Order: sequence, then structure tokens, then C-alpha cells
Amino acid sequence: ANLTGSIGVSIFPDHAQTPSDLLKFADIAMYQAKNEGRNTVQYFNEEMDAKSRYRAQLLGALKVALVRNEFELNFQPRMSLETNQIVSCEALLRWNSKEMGRIGPDVFIPLAEESGQIIEIGEWVLNESMSVLNYWHSLGFNHLGMSVNITALQLLRSKLATQIGLLIEKFNLPAYCIELEITESMVLSQHAQPLSNLWGLKDFGVTLSLDDFGTGYSSLSYLKQLPIDGLKIDKSFICEIGPNANDNTLVKTIIALGHSLGMTVIAEGVEIEEHVQLLREFGCDEIQGYLLAKPMLASDCLAFIQEHE
Ligand code: C2E
Ligand code: MG
Ligand code: MG
Repeated sequence: ANLTGSIGVSIFPDHAQTPSDLLKFADIAMYQAKNEGRNTVQYFNEEMDAKSRYRAQLLGALKVALVRNEFELNFQPRMSLETNQIVSCEALLRWNSKEMGRIGPDVFIPLAEESGQIIEIGEWVLNESMSVLNYWHSLGFNHLGMSVNITALQLLRSKLATQIGLLIEKFNLPAYCIELEITESMVLSQHAQPLSNLWGLKDFGVTLSLDDFGTGYSSLSYLKQLPIDGLKIDKSFICEIGPNANDNTLVKTIIALGHSLGMTVIAEGVEIEEHVQLLREFGCDEIQGYLLAKPMLASDCLAFIQEHE
């Protein structure tokens, strides 16, 4: 094995006057060194302290967010380019903290993952979103699916398959209507365990898709082995497409790749009409993005779907 060191430095009397503060600040600097890719030295500075204090505050607020009912789900519709129908919606979590204000999922999901809280939060998201789907189905929209984002820890630690099984029963839902989105980086993480858990989920008949596709470095042979039904092309690729054929190569290639593996290919972050035209030409299956609709409350999303029909 290769040993490396991450070193944090704090200096008396510039940074602190007491041994305990000096140690604390050196510790903060050490974590910064780890964040910078390890095997490096970081000197403490004020900004680090502010950042780490903000982080600690967020973590504290996150702990009580569920019991205080501070979470809310938004739903963003996804449309088939073949039928122009809304095929499903993605549940996107929102946190309005009493102390910290509105915090984006890009900020709090990684924190919840780190603290392990994502297990409980994830269970809440699943239950809430399936309850909404059950309601929509009861109104006759039973062709609709629901996508839920899942993190590595959920796949690794929680009894996700068991929970999904219970939800299918509780809300009387066809399993294929439930789509779990995992990210490419999760597939690439060191642990083999989460991946083997994918088959447990697949056994229930749920739909699995790979989110933010193209941003990681998936080995293509891996992709072939996984029970993945859909690829969601990351929005950073979608916003690049245009009249210049060179910019379209990547997206076209991903679509061809997905199709050759029998997968549904979804474009995320579709913001302009021109992109829809191009994606149609490329044979992309489904689109999601601000052009169609922004993420919105369940009632607004239902109204949108009714209007769209
Ligand atoms: P994601 O799963 O890739 O979700 C798509 C993100 O793109 C959402 O950001 C959505 O609001 C945004 N988006 C949709 N259409 C457009 C568009 O046309 N243009 C642009 N610029 N953006 C668009 P959001 O809601 O901030 O979520 C960010 C990420 O946080 C999600 O990325 C997902 O990875 C994560 N996340 C959200 N909710 C949950 C959750 O319940 N559980 C977990 N584990 N992760 C979640
Ligand atoms: Mg997603
Ligand atoms: Mg995405």
C-alpha cells in the first residue's frame, strides 16, 4: 500500500491563542487538505473557519429538518418525443430551513450522505413521492411513472429493496412505474456492494436509470453488465448541441450507445426548442427540462399534466 499524509497547520498566536483552538483550527485545515485531494499541506485561514462553521450549522439544522417538516418535494415532468405524452415525473427534494433559509439539494444531499441522514430522508422522499403517484394513478393517470434519486449510501446501507416492496404494496403500484436514478459516479465508486444490490431492486421489477450520464468515466463494459434501463444524458452535454455538427457528436454517440444496450435515453436540462428539434433528429427517446416545465409542487404538476393531455 501507498501511505500519504494530509497535514493541517495552525500558528500561534496568529490563528488562535489557546491550545484547544489551535488544535481545532489545525484539524479544520487538515480536512481542507483532504478535500484538496490529500497528500498535501494546508494552512488555516479565516475563510476555512467560516466555511466549517457554516457546514456545522447546516448539519445541525439538517438533523431536525425532518421532524420540523421542513422538506418538500417538487416534481418535474418528462415527455416522450415519440408520443409527446408526459411519461413520468422526477421527485426533487427541497429544504426550507427555519434557521438557514432555502438550501439547494446540491448542498444538503452530500451533507446528508456524509452524516448518514440520507437514509431517513431518502425513506421520506420515497414514501412521499409514491403517495403522490398513487393519487395520480387513482385519478386515471396510471401510465405515469415516478423517478426518485438514490445515493450510494442508500443502496449500501438501507434495506431499500424491502422498503420498495412495502411501498409497492402500500400504494398498490406497478413496480415498473417506480424509477430509481443512480449517478454514474456511484457506479464507479470503490464499493462493489451497492452494485450487487441493484439486482435485488431489479428483482422487484422497478426501473433503474443512470443519472448525469457522461460526467463520470464509466467503463462501457460495466454498463453492459448492470441492470440499467435508462440513461439520462447530463445537461452539460445537452446545452452544447447546436447547428455545428461537431458539438453534437457526444450526444449522438450516447444515444446510439444507450440504444445498442436496449436502454431508454433521456435528455435532461432541455431549455430551448432548437434542442428538442435536434434531439428528435438524433433519435433521443425522452426529454426533461425547463422548456417543458420547471420542477413544481405536486398539485401544479398535476394541473400541468392534465393541461398537457
Ligand atoms: P438531478 O437528479 O440530475 O436533477 C436534475 C436537476 O436539474 C434538478 O436540480 C433540476 O431542477 C435541474 N433542472 C431541470 N431542468 C433543468 C433545465 O432545463 N436547466 C437547468 N439548468 N437545470 C434543470 P435540483 O432540483 O437542484 O437537484 C440537484 C440534484 O440534487 C439532483 O440532480 C439530484 O442529484 C439531487 N437531488 C435532488 N433531490 C434529491 C433526492 O430526493 N434524493 C437524492 N438522493 N438526491 C436528490
Ligand atoms: Mg435525477
Ligand atoms: Mg441529472
